[in-house]
Amino acid sequence: MIIVVCIKQVPEITEVKVDPKTKTLMREGVPSILNPLDEFAIEEALRIREKHGGEVIIVTMGPPQANEAILKCLAMGADRAIHLSDRAFAGADTLATAYTLAKAIKQFIPNFDVILCGKQAIDGDTAQVPVEMAEWLNLTQITGVKKVEVDPKGRKVVAHRETDEGYEVIESKLPVLLTAIKELNEPRLPTLMGILSAKNKETRVITAVDLDGDTGLFGLNGSPTQVVEIFAPKPRGKGTIILDEDPVATAKKIIQFLFEKGVI
Ligand SMILES: Cc1cc2nc3c(=O)[nH]c(=O)nc-3n(C[C@H](O)[C@H](O)[C@H](O)COP(=O)(O)OP(=O)(O)OC[C@H]3O[C@@H](n4cnc5c(N)ncnc54)[C@H](O)[C@@H]3O)c2cc1C
Repeated sequence: MIIVVCIKQVPEITEVKVDPKTKTLMREGVPSILNPLDEFAIEEALRIREKHGGEVIIVTMGPPQANEAILKCLAMGADRAIHLSDRAFAGADTLATAYTLAKAIKQFIPNFDVILCGKQAIDGDTAQVPVEMAEWLNLTQITGVKKVEVDPKGRKVVAHRETDEGYEVIESKLPVLLTAIKELNEPRLPTLMGILSAKNKETRVITAVDLDGDTGLFGLNGSPTQVVEIFAPKPRGKGTIILDEDPVATAKKIIQFLFEKGVI
């Protein structure tokens, strides 16, 4: 089984601030971490490899410092990594990110069986990259997976997918793209041996000229979306509590209040 895990390095979200003048994220000095949901994707990939054999390959697109996140994945037990890093990839929206990742996977890991992603990243939070990547690769996708069984001989997977009402069980042929939620497993911590061996594992850095893709679809050039403004929501004022011992009287007071406010 060849399992690709797409991971993203993200800012530690609790510490991100917006510059009030430029309206951009202040990333300087903000620690970066591996996107938390991606840890569940890696853990599942390692479990599939432990059960069925094969290889776990990490793929990320990001600046040079994203190598820290790659090292964590290698320390957890992944076999090798591909790091897409080039100024030509900068400014990518989700469509261009997905296009670049899809092109790299098709070109450098054409024999993959499963692609695992986190369901969403804690910074962009769109959950769009995996589904767009599946479209670029013309691949079946199962999102929000909380349990998965892989059958390499039957060339299929059976996945339990979370929905608003409960969950649904979906069977798909391989290859397939899955996105992980936190109910999927309990990610392992890297061992000391894992941390020491991570630096000796292969990380291949790929630039724009190495890729077969249309350069007009990379980075800012390939990004149809534009961030017009970014702002922190205004703090809400205090709420009004309307309460009477008699529920009917409470309801009347609420209606009166809504009338006065011009809501109804
Ligand atoms: C106009 C525009 C310009 C932008 N410019 C920049 C910029 O200059 N620099 C910048 O850092 N961001 C930029 N972004 C944000 C960038 O598009 C997103 O960070 C990126 O596409 C991922 O989207 P997301 O965070 O919503 O991920 P989601 O779709 O929520 O992520 C889900 C999963 O997809 C996978 N995934 C997501 N991103 C990657 C990745 N890069 N590599 C591998 N796997 C991944 C992971 O498995 C992740 O768990 C820009 C966005 C827009 C709209």
